[in-house]
Amino acid sequence: MNDTEYERILDRRIQARLASDRAYRNAENAEQQAQREYEIEQEEAERLDSGDCQWFRDCGNPATSLEPHPILGAVPICERCAAKVAALS
Ligand SMILES: [Zn+2]
Repeated sequence: MNDTEYERILDRRIQARLASDRAYRNAENAEQQAQREYEIEQEEAERLDSGDCQWFRDCGNPATSLEPHPILGAVPICERCAAKVAALS
């Protein structure tokens, strides 16, 4: 085996190793992503159960509907906060 052949084999091994590392990381990321989505769903379910408006921290009014929040998902909201959100957007 000459040096060039040896380098080619080594290169293939490195490529294979990198590909397998990449696949492992992708699987890990997918698992973390699924875990995050599950946690968000759980938080959403807890919020829906409580029945109070949770759009603004200080508001304790009974929620009258759900408002889609960019990060939190569906958040219970009262009429007063819904009007405030509508006025702001
Ligand atoms: Zn409110």
